[in-house]
Amino acid sequence: MTENTLMRPDQIKTYLDRHVIGQDEAKKTLAVAVYNHYKRILHKDDPTSKVHLEKSNIILLGPTGCGKTLLVKTIAKMLNVPCYIQDTTKLTASGYVGSDVEDCLVGLLRACDYNMKKACKGIVMLDEGDKIAKKDAGVSVTRDVSGECVQQSLLKIIEGDLVGVPPMGGRKHPEQDLLYVNTTDILFILSGAFVGLDEIVARRMGCGSRRIGFGQGTAATPEQEKDILRYVTPEDLRDFGLIPEFIGRFPVITHVEQMERDALLKILTEPEDALTGQYAELLRQDGVMLNFAPDALEAIADAAIEMGTGARGLRLIMEKVMRDIMYDTPLLVAKKKTSSLTLQRKQILPILEREYRIAL
Ligand code: ADP
Repeated sequence: MTENTLMRPDQIKTYLDRHVIGQDEAKKTLAVAVYNHYKRILHKDDPTSKVHLEKSNIILLGPTGCGKTLLVKTIAKMLNVPCYIQDTTKLTASGYVGSDVEDCLVGLLRACDYNMKKACKGIVMLDEGDKIAKKDAGVSVTRDVSGECVQQSLLKIIEGDLVGVPPMGGRKHPEQDLLYVNTTDILFILSGAFVGLDEIVARRMGCGSRRIGFGQGTAATPEQEKDILRYVTPEDLRDFGLIPEFIGRFPVITHVEQMERDALLKILTEPEDALTGQYAELLRQDGVMLNFAPDALEAIADAAIEMGTGARGLRLIMEKVMRDIMYDTPLLVAKKKTSSLTLQRKQILPILEREYRIAL
């Protein structure tokens, strides 16, 4: 990424569109935040600039399997910057069993073969960020060791500081040489499903029978209620269990939406590395042309909805559905018995029933 190659927000969005279905709201917000972040880095030494630009770390909320990680990874790939996905449930404040918070920086260094210059402009995704909510606050409470301590420990790293990390990760030891990572230009993206946050927002907005809290007491429309995470405020996140200093370091908040049937169908066929294309390619290498009947794809999408894990279910289902075909095809080809096949709904239904007890 150089000044000449820094993409405009619309170009970033167009790039994301090629890989991620839907999620326009998140794409636009991320495009602007990422653009501003890297513009800020590029113009840091500009003597004509008198205004100090703050970092635009991002909170990316929304249901599991709907593209949060995919969006972040795609952005990192597009910008050619290293990216590390840190499961925050693995982090603990110093003194507890688990990884020190600095481990996310070690992960980032590893992602670029310890190229410090690259790492310092990389992206750290703090995944499962909802799990470090304070114990006594929100509705989603799953940690034993206080998540608040982890939030406290992360503050300096996220804000931007020179942070000493043990090169191989793990606990720091006094006699150990440390690598110093300047985190000022590292973009942090806190992500998670934040189950229960929608209720906090809905309560504040007075959804359902009550009146909406902002504006002049207008009622929340069904549309607003459906897309409730759009209205998340820092106060809602505080009520969920994030501490104000922590929230304050993430000025950009956006969300992904639950994937509907149409979106799941598109995911199966449209992105550059769409699942159907991948399996077709595998069979093409055996010399067979694979097609999918439209109602077969609908069955797969419907089953993914039943599983409730967003688009993540698609891959699992496809793998099960394709197993026998991938087992039989090379032999059939050897016997010259097939050169093309179309996957039908009736082949899929018994597999769904057998493997997942899903009856469509
Ligand atoms: P999350 O981080 O929101 O839990 P992921 O981004 O890891 O979900 O999604 C899991 C997988 O599902 C992805 O690797 C991708 O194959 C697929 N997927 C999810 N959402 C989308 C989307 N909006 N467009 C295309 N593929 C998607």
